[in-house]
Amino acid sequence: MDVARHGATANGGVNRQALSAEDIAARRHVIAWAQQRGFQTFQDEIGNLFVRRDGTDPSLAPVMTGSHLDSQPTGGKFDGAYGVLAGLEVLEALNDAKIHTRRPIEVVAWTNEEGSRFSPGAMGSAIFVGARDLASVLDVRDPKGVVLRDALDTTLNSSPIPRRAHGSVRAHSYIEAHIEQGPILEEAGLPIGVVTGIQGSRRLNVDITGEEAHAGTAPRRARRDALSAAVSVIAALENLTRDDDDVLRFTVGRCEVFPGSPNTVPGRVHFTIDLRHPADTTLRAIGDRIPAVVKQSAKNCAATVTEVSYVNPTTFQAAVIDRVRASSDRLGFRNMDMPSGAGHDAMYLARVCPTGMIFVPCLRGVSHNEIESATPEELATGARVLADTLVSLAQE
Ligand SMILES: [Zn+2]
Repeated sequence: MDVARHGATANGGVNRQALSAEDIAARRHVIAWAQQRGFQTFQDEIGNLFVRRDGTDPSLAPVMTGSHLDSQPTGGKFDGAYGVLAGLEVLEALNDAKIHTRRPIEVVAWTNEEGSRFSPGAMGSAIFVGARDLASVLDVRDPKGVVLRDALDTTLNSSPIPRRAHGSVRAHSYIEAHIEQGPILEEAGLPIGVVTGIQGSRRLNVDITGEEAHAGTAPRRARRDALSAAVSVIAALENLTRDDDDVLRFTVGRCEVFPGSPNTVPGRVHFTIDLRHPADTTLRAIGDRIPAVVKQSAKNCAATVTEVSYVNPTTFQAAVIDRVRASSDRLGFRNMDMPSGAGHDAMYLARVCPTGMIFVPCLRGVSHNEIESATPEELATGARVLADTLVSLAQE
């Protein structure tokens, strides 16, 4: 609740976008808490913030945990912030219980997970694992024209803590605690989700071109109405992606009509497709059929389909999944295995080290929304499973 004051909105959510003044304030708050407890703090070239509790063997790589402090423009209090604060809570609890681990444990707040101000998202974790170059993002601008390089400088300079060189510290393993952002745990009445992986996603752009005409004089039989064609295309795509098990996700989230005049027949329509599935075979098979279905159903208009991104599904390592499940069982918390519907920083960490995630329920599964909510009991349960899993990994 203290962190949620940074960027608090009138409707009870937060607007704490990456590298903003609100994000900086939240970082400084976490740094202050960490320093009060005597933990070391570091930041790297992209602004990832590390809070370190030393282990007994300084030669060993740290076990990492964390998530992100940035939010959507109309985001909730828990998406991301929960994982960072649950990690910090674990470090404090280990101090209080005088538990020493062989490996260091580090809590990380990854920079710009949401990608709503500066694109793409999960920027900090992607750069940390070497999946993206710092140089490739420095000139990105936000919608107001602010260059990322400048916002990053301001952020780094606002906290005079030691700078860590890229690649100087590698993770032994990574566990991220997060609200589920979906309704499955709540519906099942279970407090813990053992996350087995993250579903893959494809983004495509569709452009349909017809011909502008006067709404009053052009006979309908002679029209090449791009919006009318788009409606038929989207209906055909809904049909293509119908899934009785309701696992395949298909969303048209943006649709632009040109010229956008009430008395002109639309000459062009642009819309986006977001397609997701945990199995790459399905993602590939269905996604690959989209261009043909679009062309067949575009009536007398021309249609082009452009693939913007294809992110393969992530499968977490059994060694970590089993450990999360064992911790949850040992503590007496009923749980279920489940894939993550949303993308997370863990997606990138899984490329370089054994990785897992712990989900806790959130009210009605609502997220990316100011009304996002979770109970203290639910969040504490997740933190307890996180603590148990981290200690077991840190004794390896
Ligand atoms: Zn998140």
